[in-house]
Amino acid sequence: MKKQWWGVLLTMVILITGCTPAIPIGLENPGNLLLVEQNLTVEITFTNTITSTVTPSITPFLPSTATVTPIPPTATITPDPKLSQFGPGDVLIPILMYHHVSPNANSEYAVSIDQFRRQMQWLQDEGYQTVSIADMVTAIQVGKLLPHKPIILTFDDGFMDVYENAYPLLTELGYTATMYLIEDVINEHPYVTDDVMEELINAGWELGHHSKSHAYLPGLRNLDEEVCDSRMRLIERFNQPFDSFAYPFAAKDDKSIQVVKDCGYTSGAGNGSFTIHTEERLFFFSRREIKSYFDMQRFITTVTDVR
Ligand SMILES: [Zn+2]
Repeated sequence: MKKQWWGVLLTMVILITGCTPAIPIGLENPGNLLLVEQNLTVEITFTNTITSTVTPSITPFLPSTATVTPIPPTATITPDPKLSQFGPGDVLIPILMYHHVSPNANSEYAVSIDQFRRQMQWLQDEGYQTVSIADMVTAIQVGKLLPHKPIILTFDDGFMDVYENAYPLLTELGYTATMYLIEDVINEHPYVTDDVMEELINAGWELGHHSKSHAYLPGLRNLDEEVCDSRMRLIERFNQPFDSFAYPFAAKDDKSIQVVKDCGYTSGAGNGSFTIHTEERLFFFSRREIKSYFDMQRFITTVTDVR
């Protein structure tokens, strides 16, 4: 009896409500949830779309605002490492004297080309650099910056073979020299011409005067003509100062030295054994003559012996 009553009651409830409880079927995957409610199936799809927009960060290039600070000039003079101070006062500068440089060393005054080349190459290898008589005078009187090992090369009389044989080699080595000219024989064989002199001047050679006629000066009456008037003509002719006078035959007396001073020269070239030059000896300074019979050792001693 009781079972029949419970069955009738349940049937009535179902008929009254007309429904059954919703039953979740399950989570199919993390993105989908499937719900079944009565006869309605709803599928919800979660789409995870991640849009990442990377916006590049551009740093604008700005004009430089760096301030350029001008370097103020300083009074400091950077010393040239290739130069040394010489003077004022006594200076050590070997001065060599030559006459001829010729293919045939046929006299003691004519060194051969090969001999001259070996001598000049030795000077170059030892670091000697040529300077002028004017450089020496300036160094003694007021001081001057000169190469560490200065040397002066002088050629007396103005022979053409010096231009032909010594000049090309010296130019090759970056050397210059001083040539003492005799006015009366310029353009005469075997002496240099005006054109040759122009070339040597343009190459940086220094010119000195060696008198009008190569006269023996001691006791000479017409000293002014040989020493002074002739000099003025050469100054005008070559537009060079001709500040140094070489005594012919290295012969002088008190009067000729005085005339050289009075004419306005700044030095007088003689011969002698000194390589240290002084104010007192400026008007008969020492030159060491290189003779054709010198071997290399004699040449080296001549250059390097200090006195
Ligand atoms: Zn001479």
